[in-house]
Amino acid sequence: FRRIVLASRPQQQATLDNFRLETVAVPELGEGQVLIKNHFLSLDPYMRVRMNAEKGYADPQALNETMIGGTVGTIVASKNPRYAVGEQVIGMLGWAEMGVSDGLLLRKLDTTHIPLSAYLGAVGMPGMTAWYGLTQIMQANEGETVLVSAASGAVGSVVGQLAKLRGCRAIGIAGGPEKCQYVREELGFDACIDYKANDWQEQLLAATPTGIDAIFENVGGEVFDACLLRMNPFGRIALCGMIAGYESAELPIKNARVLLTQRLSVRGFIISEHMDLWPQGLKELGSYVASGKIKFKESIAPDLAAAPEAFLGLLKGKNFGKQLVRLLD
Ligand code: NDP
Repeated sequence: FRRIVLASRPQQQATLDNFRLETVAVPELGEGQVLIKNHFLSLDPYMRVRMNAEKGYADPQALNETMIGGTVGTIVASKNPRYAVGEQVIGMLGWAEMGVSDGLLLRKLDTTHIPLSAYLGAVGMPGMTAWYGLTQIMQANEGETVLVSAASGAVGSVVGQLAKLRGCRAIGIAGGPEKCQYVREELGFDACIDYKANDWQEQLLAATPTGIDAIFENVGGEVFDACLLRMNPFGRIALCGMIAGYESAELPIKNARVLLTQRLSVRGFIISEHMDLWPQGLKELGSYVASGKIKFKESIAPDLAAAPEAFLGLLKGKNFGKQLVRLLD
């Protein structure tokens, strides 16, 4: 089967040369192991951070090993009594058409009401990230104004829709008119600021006439800085991601004084450290997706070979919704 390994570490911007497609033999299964054929691979911004040599909150991706990543697929051979051939599972088998697992990190999936791919998006890690930030950190109450950046994306789209379901006013930030229109009209946000437009600062003022009570930050940089100046007293900020800085040097926060004057709380979080809440969050997200109350969009790369290019695109905002790779039969 084919897989993609990390061939070299990026200098600053990742390039196609950092990846290598190779073909490897299907291994013999040992006792307790299962063989899985992957149907979808998830591409996520955190992978870019793991490509660097420096240890962040997690170990770096090893060179010449399969790129890390979440996958959904079907068991095709099993020497584990807990898993039968034909069952659908989510796992972390990486950028590969197949993979072997001892079953410990697998979870069985029910696709009766929820499409398989959604378990990598709105009903998976990105959805959980949105749920955690909104309910545990932002603690957004009815009537409050909530702002989220990268609002059309996997995490951001769920943040805004959950906020609306809780009776908040949801404001998004996204790049370009098409994404903003989708955020407003399809996802039901109250407003969406196009940060690529010349008048984005005026748009921000117009969208937040009574200020902002809570921010879910995915991007960082100049726009985040401007949003800080709109914060109401005792506002909360869930610091989820700073994608604008994943391929560059530091991202300074210039308006840090507002943290003091408005008595703000800022809390960063890593969703994999809160596994205890996943069953609760995923249950809620699953029922919202099954009933159509939470909608989602996907960008699907057509084949494993297209994964590197799709991943580089994700870091530049070329994706529109959750970025996935479909693995061919
Ligand atoms: P998205 O689906 O939101 O895709 C990334 C989006 O970020 C792009 O579509 C683009 O949207 C925006 N973007 C990309 N590059 C830039 C840039 N240089 N400047 C500004 N915006 C950019 O990805 P996810 O939903 O998977 O992730 C969103 C954020 O959440 C990321 O920062 C990620 O690292 C973080 N995250 C954190 C987790 C945690 O545990 N803390 C867990 C999961 C995700 P646009 O075109 O609108 O700019």
